[in-house]
Amino acid sequence: MKVELLSHSPLSNIIHAGLTCTDRLDKLPHYLAFPETFINRLLRAGHESVIEHVVYTFKIEDITRGLLQQLARHRLISLSVQSTRWALDRVLDGTVMEELFYVPEELEGADRDKYIEVALKQLQQARTLAEAFGNDVGKYIIPECMYTDLVMTVNARELRHIFQLRAKPPALKEFNILVREIYNVLPDSHKFMFEEFLE
Ligand SMILES: Cc1cc2nc3c(=O)[nH]c(=O)nc-3n(C[C@H](O)[C@H](O)[C@H](O)COP(=O)(O)OP(=O)(O)OC[C@H]3O[C@@H](n4cnc5c(N)ncnc54)[C@H](O)[C@@H]3O)c2cc1C
Repeated sequence: MKVELLSHSPLSNIIHAGLTCTDRLDKLPHYLAFPETFINRLLRAGHESVIEHVVYTFKIEDITRGLLQQLARHRLISLSVQSTRWALDRVLDGTVMEELFYVPEELEGADRDKYIEVALKQLQQARTLAEAFGNDVGKYIIPECMYTDLVMTVNARELRHIFQLRAKPPALKEFNILVREIYNVLPDSHKFMFEEFLE
């Protein structure tokens, strides 16, 4: 899994918005020097809509189609996902390899070998079906462990919500890892808004 932060808004958007609510823009220079204090006060008061003015865009590579399905349940994010037809072409071009799919790290030895054997067999069957009947038929049996790539845009409020639900068990372990990877690429000055969900 690889996560890259493509762009983000400045924290000053939140301070500007918050001070607009209370008509105290004269305090802007002061709070720009102490964004964490100001924003934590808003969060403690439940005035969370103000942090929607900070938006992040991430490039996320090599997450499973299973994780994509769960991520996509979050309705307030924008996703652009690699098409399944294109993904199947990777299988069809003859490079059916372990690198195309996720192997849970808890599997070892013979269990790991068995998992890889089953996944490879399913990918090969998808390939055979696609060659015979086209990608739109073969795609239906692509296994959930196959990797995909996407771009996600999300505001800070929704990202906090995702952290709250998905940073720890019982959420899917791969989702826990994605949350940690997203946290790692956030600007250091933004991390305070999310770290309570990782402790
Ligand atoms: C451990 C775990 C197990 C799960 N198991 C299942 C399962 O078995 N089956 C299943 O279908 N899903 C399952 N889910 C998914 C879960 O039900 C949610 O669909 C998903 O987590 C998205 O979260 P959300 O709906 O809170 O928020 P988002 O879609 O991220 O929306 C953010 C917030 O906006 C508000 N909101 C958004 N849309 C609406 C709306 N239409 N009406 C009112 N308020 C809205 C809510 O306050 C919501 O919390 C599971 C999730 C977790 C974390």
